[in-house]
Amino acid sequence: MPIIRQVAQLGHEVLRLKAAKIEKITQPSIQSLIDDMLITVSNSDGVGIAAPQVYESLQIFVIASHPNSRYPNAPNIEPTAIINPKILWVSEEQNKAWEGCLSIPTIRGLVPRYKSIRAKYTTRDNTTKELVFSDFMARIFQHEYDHLNGISFLDRLDSMKDIITEVEFNKLIDKAI
Ligand code: ZN
Repeated sequence: MPIIRQVAQLGHEVLRLKAAKIEKITQPSIQSLIDDMLITVSNSDGVGIAAPQVYESLQIFVIASHPNSRYPNAPNIEPTAIINPKILWVSEEQNKAWEGCLSIPTIRGLVPRYKSIRAKYTTRDNTTKELVFSDFMARIFQHEYDHLNGISFLDRLDSMKDIITEVEFNKLIDKAI
């Protein structure tokens, strides 16, 4: 049975480590970690979670984009585990959008990201994929990929003025609808 994992909070050293590559993806401990991450992210209204966020310094993250109260405009994508990822190419174009993080509750930051990326990764059934991600999906990918390298979205901000509270963020969403 998958279990909801505790989420490491900003300041814990596991969020600053470089995560280790996974050698044997099909082993039961890795498969059950992925199951735990899937249930943990859906339980917390996140759109992604990286293994270091559940105290496992391993190169896995889950993208689970769907509209929810924290991200009302998110696209609906089948939850997917991304293992041993590598970003191979980034677009020249960047854009900024508000991001949150399960490890940094109650605040949002206006984070610059590449608009599109091309990435290579392995799936949980040990298939290698190479895909281009754009816009919201590219943003989640870069956010989670950063977690595998000990980087939080705060490290990417151009200015400390690009930090707001969730209370103010919710007002922005209300205005946008
Ligand atoms: Zn995060």
